[in-house]
Amino acid sequence: MQGVGFRPHVWQLAQRTAVAGSVRNDLNGVTISAFGQAPALDAFVRGLKDGAPRLARIDMIEIEDIASETLPTDFRILQSDGMGSGTGIQPDAATCSDCLCEIADPTDRRFGYAFANCTQCGPRFSIIRHVPYDRDATTMSDFDMCDACREEYENPGDRRFHAQPIACPACGPQLWFEALGQRLDGVDPIVHAAECLKAGQILAIKGLGGFQIAVDACNESAIAELRRKKRRPDKPFALMARDLAQLQEYCTISKEEAALIEMPAAPILLLEAKPGGLAANIAPHQDRLGFMLPNSPLHHLLMARLEHPVVLTSGNISDDPQEIDNTRAVTRLQELVDGFLTHDRTIENRVDDSVLRLDRPGPTVLRRARGLAPASVHCAFVSETAPKVLAMGGELKNTFCLLNGPDAIVSQHIGDLKNATVFADYKATLRQFLSLYDFRPDIVAVDRHPQYLSSGYGRRLADEFGADLVEVQHHHAHLASCLGEHAGAGEPGDEVLAIVLDGTGWGPDKTVWGGEILKGNFSRYERIGGLIPVRLPGGDAAAREPWRNLMAQLHASFGVEMMKEVKPGELRTLLEGKQSAVLEKMLTDGVNSPLTSSAGRFFDAVAAALRICFDSQSFEGQAAMQLECLATPFLAEEEGYEIEIENGTWLSFGTLWRSLLSDLEKQQSPGRIAARVHLGFIDGLARVLENLGGEKDRTVVLSGGVFQNALLLDGLSSRCSERGLHVLTQSKVPPNDGGLALGQALVALAKAQRNKPSR
Ligand code: ZN
Ligand code: ZN
Ligand code: FE
Repeated sequence: MQGVGFRPHVWQLAQRTAVAGSVRNDLNGVTISAFGQAPALDAFVRGLKDGAPRLARIDMIEIEDIASETLPTDFRILQSDGMGSGTGIQPDAATCSDCLCEIADPTDRRFGYAFANCTQCGPRFSIIRHVPYDRDATTMSDFDMCDACREEYENPGDRRFHAQPIACPACGPQLWFEALGQRLDGVDPIVHAAECLKAGQILAIKGLGGFQIAVDACNESAIAELRRKKRRPDKPFALMARDLAQLQEYCTISKEEAALIEMPAAPILLLEAKPGGLAANIAPHQDRLGFMLPNSPLHHLLMARLEHPVVLTSGNISDDPQEIDNTRAVTRLQELVDGFLTHDRTIENRVDDSVLRLDRPGPTVLRRARGLAPASVHCAFVSETAPKVLAMGGELKNTFCLLNGPDAIVSQHIGDLKNATVFADYKATLRQFLSLYDFRPDIVAVDRHPQYLSSGYGRRLADEFGADLVEVQHHHAHLASCLGEHAGAGEPGDEVLAIVLDGTGWGPDKTVWGGEILKGNFSRYERIGGLIPVRLPGGDAAAREPWRNLMAQLHASFGVEMMKEVKPGELRTLLEGKQSAVLEKMLTDGVNSPLTSSAGRFFDAVAAALRICFDSQSFEGQAAMQLECLATPFLAEEEGYEIEIENGTWLSFGTLWRSLLSDLEKQQSPGRIAARVHLGFIDGLARVLENLGGEKDRTVVLSGGVFQNALLLDGLSSRCSERGLHVLTQSKVPPNDGGLALGQALVALAKAQRNKPSR
């Protein structure tokens, strides 16, 4: 990979081990010719991996003997030739410790400089315009290197050798503070911004991949003001802490979690909150806080001047894409903020903050963006000569994927395509990727949903490129996404079991799927069980309004007499308020009420029964997240509700609802009820797997958006492991629809190869 300091690492290693030869980047990665005594060569090969730079990722080393008549006398870094398209596109990386020392050292020429970077850190993807990745191909081409920087840039022994974004205060980007359309002169922008934040002001800050909005995390009224202006009443805000020590005042963090939050990607990590300390309206009804550490010198310098963490959220208006352009940001965000801490380095590619959580099976990526995208997911089982596949992704939490041989390049999180500005951004970003990676698809993969905007656009692109169009069932794609991450797990063609718990997706039987037990591989699947379908009254409206799903569940369990089962009380009054002839017709005759097996909607129904977001949720997943949080303290001491299993593999909830309503009548605490539902649900699925003869070593895939629920993920994966099943969960791309495109690409390829076996 180019731009991670690998060639200088090889050069320095060659000097240390007295090996002669050369190193260059080419189409296949890095090719090294090395000549020396056998022990020296052994040490050299060992050092390639052991001392590799922190941004390098070595998928494979192949070694072969070279016959040569003339032996080289020194070791050289050669010009790259025929660079593989895209091999130079690295994710952005948080400031390294060497650069941090420099900006804190008053004798260093980069003291206090907000844009210091080196081969090991700094902007990459966010500034690249085209390939090959060198200075002129990035937005740093706006700045001419000074002599001092050029010397570092050209010296293979320097830690800034070929660091394309190299900069210093004399030649690089400049920072300023502006308010009310005026640039403030004569103030240190960082000092001034820190004072504004301390005074409770809301600021826009131009980060690595887009504008962010910052406010003091201890100032409840300032945060309330931001919520009001951003029209974001409940959705949790992310936070930035100065360092690990400050973060520990507010959250519990394990060693493994510390390692994740300190990775070069510097993601937002969801951590168990300690009581008190920060404003209560940062993450209402949540037991976790999403924290990140500074990811650029700008953030480090600012945080060093503040006593508290800050709320740091995307700089956008409601659901629009994050702002990246100076002029547009000032126009669009001025209603929201009191001032701008901004600069003149252009952001070419928008890339929002990534979100991770450490679960029992490993890290779960909830949003894959800054620091992670567009690093490829290596699918070793795909051959170099395989047809190229462009997969268009889903509708919500969209990402798309370019499958280029074994490298699956999954885009950064784009967002919800129903927002027109996001859809425009999706099309532009997709075009940008096709050009960056010089990618011409042979196959375009789309979701089967007839109304997904991504599917419609995919059909147009397939026409444009003369590519084959392959429709992929939504939950088959979730299965394949998880299987693909694990390099196909086992022999190609082996079938696995999959539990796909999801919001909703298009089913081939014209119903809405979302709680499926599948058996399959990349090229085929079969639905062998799941949640017994119930009505989805009002279609999409049911995803926003949990009460609709409660009605549907009660109707499915008890029929038209359902209200008799709900004892007089608050819930009964609420439900009667919603009862109408129209609704009854919807439930009985299925008018505008498709059948659905969605696990997401089942949990929405449970939330509504506990009066959580009964009327509506203000963001996707709100009800489920609150329910999960409520259940957590009671898991260890509770037992699950009984769930009936029909025909060995189909979950039915009549008994569960009867027990739940009876617990409500007994005024049992909502937390205990929530725990009993979670535990019963896990138990029901585990029993289905047993019924399927879950013999040892059988592989089970867990995917779908509902696995963002850590209780379900941890509980079900433990249960499966205890039974000797081989459990695969997602850790490289999200289990939600952010991981869909990877699965679509792999399914489409497998189908194409099955249809044309003689390649
Ligand atoms: Zn650095
Ligand atoms: Zn310079
Ligand atoms: Fe999905």
